[in-house]
Amino acid sequence: MIHGSSVPVESASWQNLLASSITDPRVLLTRLQLDSSLLEGALAADREFALRVPEPYLQRMQPGDPNDPLLRQVLPLGEELNEQPGYVADPLGEQQSNTRPGIIHKYHGRLLLVVTAGCAINCRYCFRRHFPYADNNLSTAEWEQALDYIRQDSSINEVIYSGGDPLAANDRRLAWLTRQIADIPHIKRLRVHTRLPVVIPQRVTDELIDALCGTRLPVTMVLHCNHANEVDAQMLGAIARLRRANITLLNQAVLLRGVNDRLEAQIALSEALGDNGVLPYYLHLLDHVRGASHFHCSDSEGQQLIGQLLTRLPGYLVPRLVKEVAGELGKVPIHVDLVNP
Ligand code: SF4
Repeated sequence: MIHGSSVPVESASWQNLLASSITDPRVLLTRLQLDSSLLEGALAADREFALRVPEPYLQRMQPGDPNDPLLRQVLPLGEELNEQPGYVADPLGEQQSNTRPGIIHKYHGRLLLVVTAGCAINCRYCFRRHFPYADNNLSTAEWEQALDYIRQDSSINEVIYSGGDPLAANDRRLAWLTRQIADIPHIKRLRVHTRLPVVIPQRVTDELIDALCGTRLPVTMVLHCNHANEVDAQMLGAIARLRRANITLLNQAVLLRGVNDRLEAQIALSEALGDNGVLPYYLHLLDHVRGASHFHCSDSEGQQLIGQLLTRLPGYLVPRLVKEVAGELGKVPIHVDLVNP
């Protein structure tokens, strides 16, 4: 059942699932039969960055386990409030690239559109947890200005829908935007960065596929899945629908202490995705955003992990280890040597 409703998850619409997400730490702890000693810290951290967990994601967690790898990604902890040197509000310096509402133009040839402010889930490690979304909630006139910016810069050949989670926007908005972008001759590709097919797989509807795929633009979707326990039957159904629509599917994950920092966890994730047509693309080192330091793994831990992974899996199932550095021309690849596990 959806939280606070009598509708079973299987037959709920994605809009209902999105609207009925758990946002109260008390409810989360009760539903997962977790110790009430976690509550004080959860309430304090929730005031800084709100809890949000959709029901289909909650159902993949193990009740009674405070170390469940999915729970760790969403549970607000008191330690998020401890200031750590080097952990800042805008670790990627995005506010300098966000000079116009709705646009982040950091890299040559491609540009991010902040399609929505909202996400279906609030990941505690999110590098945009302090992003000024209120300044990027576009009016129709501002959308036209954002599109004009793209029209006037013929060096841009790829538009990336980002957010928030761009698939939290409704299909009418996505269809309109995609048609506008496809009408710009120098745009060759559309990319969508989203976690919604993972956390609410019901979001992948025929209407969504029509909205994204109804133009000349080839579509690549970069999912964000961090752990094999996130890959359930519903998510696989969503992936199958996306593949039937000829959408290229990639995955990016973040290396997170206590979530996926073990070799076996990385193998299970790459195999669960690769076996179902999603290629691992990036493993990101954590961005040093304020409130997320407890997830930190060092560069050498990442190198060790990927070095071991290269000896256990075919190369196409091994993600590239990267980090983002403010002011760089692209994601910075981290050199990796083979490591005997
Ligand atoms: S879904 Fe993506 S943008 Fe939203 S909170 Fe998680 S990491 Fe951040």
